[in-house]
Amino acid sequence: MKRVHLAPGIWHLQSGSNMGLGVQDGKGLLIDAGLDKDAARRALRALDELNVALAGLFLTHAHADHFGGAHVVQRRTEARTYAPILEAAMMEHPLIEPLYLFGGAAPIAELCHKFTLAEPCQVDQVMTAPGPLQIGPLQVEAVPLPGHSPHQMGVAVGDVLFCADALFPIETLEKHHVTFCVDLDRTLETLERLPTLPYAHFAPGHGPAYAAGEEIARVCAANRERLEQVRALVYDALDEPHETPALVRHVADHYGLRLKTATSYFLTRTTVLAALSSLERAGEASVAMKGNHLWWQKQ
Ligand SMILES: [Zn+2]
Repeated sequence: MKRVHLAPGIWHLQSGSNMGLGVQDGKGLLIDAGLDKDAARRALRALDELNVALAGLFLTHAHADHFGGAHVVQRRTEARTYAPILEAAMMEHPLIEPLYLFGGAAPIAELCHKFTLAEPCQVDQVMTAPGPLQIGPLQVEAVPLPGHSPHQMGVAVGDVLFCADALFPIETLEKHHVTFCVDLDRTLETLERLPTLPYAHFAPGHGPAYAAGEEIARVCAANRERLEQVRALVYDALDEPHETPALVRHVADHYGLRLKTATSYFLTRTTVLAALSSLERAGEASVAMKGNHLWWQKQ
């Protein structure tokens, strides 16, 4: 785990899934808890080395790679846990994640591994609205960043915004092409707003932190362009009516993606469905049932 010092008392703990740490008067706030117990233990070791007692754990969203280690942090510290509404429900009942990826049916075995089915954790304070929060001696701000997950929230500690999975590094866009979102319109709005927020550093859940100004604006623009492109690809394909699986294949083929696991298929399908609901919301596409087929067509 790489410990990047962003500002006095503020660290970005960079790993497969990043975490954040804010410290004041020897009391700390941990942002996210990593994928599993190993990730959580690495973060707790960093806290020990810095001589920090944990006052709070802020969980940004209910994806297993961000809260899978939370139960270990809760067992080993006195930290009070904060999470946004709906995300909190999924953290307490993690089966919801594989359940929604599999369309609501009992999920197949592959979706029940730790990458999509985390250990549950207990949320002490469900956040129903953004705004200031007093966590131990730290005065922080919960910042709404919906779209990648329904109620994702970031947290601002001083002039650092821990912005979770609101954006992905350009290298990730180049490698994986189709980023995960459940609501494409909300994700685009979040990406538009993010660079205008009054922080000096933006520390995401994956990849390095970005400076305010041109740096964060450039990464947000690249993320926005990619999602707009996915939406346009889906829309253009609807010159002919298509079923959902054909649209998933169309998008994957366009980017030369090789979906090697059912999990990667279901993740891609979610973003394609988010593009379809965005098109439907805009009156550009609709559903038609014919011969027991569900067709998507241009409006
Ligand atoms: Zn995520």
